[in-house]
Amino acid sequence: MDRPVRVRFAPSPTGPLHIGGVRTALYNYLFAKKHNGTMILRLEDTDQTRFVPGAEEYIKKSLEWVGIEIQEGPDQGGPHAPYRQSERKPMYRQYAEGLIEKGLAYYAFDTAEELDEMRKRLEASKMQAAYDSVSRMSMKNSLTLSAEEVKLRIDRGDDYVIRIKLPRKEEVRFHDVIRGWVVVSTTQMDDKVLLKGDGMPTYHLANVVDDYLMGISHVIRGEEWLPSAPLHVMLYRFLGWEDVMPQFAHLPLLLKPEGNGKLSKRDGDRLGFPVFPLNWEDDKTGEKSSGYKESGYFPEAVANMLALLGWHPSNNQELFTMDELIEAFSLEKVSKSGAKFDLNKALWFNQQYLQMKPTSEVYEMIKPLVDSLGYDVCQEYVESVISMMREKVQFAKDTILQGKYFFEAPSEYDKQVIEKKWTADMNTHLVELSSEFEKLTDSDSPENFESTFKQFCETKSLKTGNLLQPLRVAVSGEGTGAPIWEMIALLGKEEVIHRIKSASNKISFSIA
Ligand code: GLU
Repeated sequence: MDRPVRVRFAPSPTGPLHIGGVRTALYNYLFAKKHNGTMILRLEDTDQTRFVPGAEEYIKKSLEWVGIEIQEGPDQGGPHAPYRQSERKPMYRQYAEGLIEKGLAYYAFDTAEELDEMRKRLEASKMQAAYDSVSRMSMKNSLTLSAEEVKLRIDRGDDYVIRIKLPRKEEVRFHDVIRGWVVVSTTQMDDKVLLKGDGMPTYHLANVVDDYLMGISHVIRGEEWLPSAPLHVMLYRFLGWEDVMPQFAHLPLLLKPEGNGKLSKRDGDRLGFPVFPLNWEDDKTGEKSSGYKESGYFPEAVANMLALLGWHPSNNQELFTMDELIEAFSLEKVSKSGAKFDLNKALWFNQQYLQMKPTSEVYEMIKPLVDSLGYDVCQEYVESVISMMREKVQFAKDTILQGKYFFEAPSEYDKQVIEKKWTADMNTHLVELSSEFEKLTDSDSPENFESTFKQFCETKSLKTGNLLQPLRVAVSGEGTGAPIWEMIALLGKEEVIHRIKSASNKISFSIA
């Protein structure tokens, strides 16, 4: 690569950042890091009608949570500050006016009604309803009006926009790193507005000007921007910047789990998974959207999952640290076709990270929950519960919620096990077994509890399988759960005996 790699994530702060946007940011970040490049955050906030308070903060917090570090941006500063387009407003006009001087753009004075009328007229005659090389000649612009009239209108403050003047029929070709050659004819394109009536640039102008001024080497963005790329290529050409035009890489869409269409917030609501990194509440409607963070996902799991939604490593490795992702990532291995969101895979990733994390870290995460449930236990105890429960659950909080019996004696008992296995004989055996447990110490090992149990069954000529489940139900209330001997050892002799006796009383009463 012959120029320094400089990439940007350029969101518009119009609401919470979709998880697909986080993936775009992640791919930019991985690419930048891999090539010792620079990752830039630029806020594209020129559309003031769509500005949403809090969205910028949300974007920054989301990136930080997932582990994406920004080197140049609104908070970090940098050689091309400011990094918010609204603060760069005065920079853009000169480029639009420069194009007018070269005959590559023009002033257009058409009112909303006139534009509407044009569209209707063209539609009626089955023509492309666009402001383009054909229709512009019948509209009110500096191509059709005299120079004096144009000056007069501008001087008296008439509303106007500046539009690009595209050639009538020309091929626009560019190479996309992911899609290969893309060829579009200007006959399919329209004379897009570059500068709006309020003096603000449109997305197209601001995006191209800033990518140029900020020395962006690669534009890595979602597929939804592919239709804009030919216009951007024309702008680079018209502005005389074609030799430093960035390379384009349009990422595949994130699709619904069923594969038909773009993943939306509604899919998340429907299928019960978040489509946003963090919780978000809409100020106006009060509508709430849940985030991966608050739903209990680890940021590492989310980054890992997102990296693999559209990119395939050369081997079949699935678990990657951020450093490994940086090392392995390449744009060439990003696929062209959309990537289906897979909830089970998301859960699987979280479970993998739950198992890999130090228990002390998981403890810190769930300590507030333990406290809020009023469980008065030490850290060591909770960490033991975590290591016993984490193979069975996907979220840290579930080690506690599904392992309730580590903190409270059961008040209900698994009905199926009782019906099938809890006979009057078993009840007697359990009580006798508890007397055997009396001989152990309170903090005896799982192995000693187990051998006491086995010996007891042998003496009584009992199949261990017949007594094991009643024992589990007596102690935990549940038919399945944590490894039984470790659970029993952690609860301790006294508690276990107490639970067996109380279960025996309650259950023998109910089966009697
Ligand atoms: N502002 C655009 C967005 O919201 C940026 C697209 C691009 O990266 O060029 O995604």
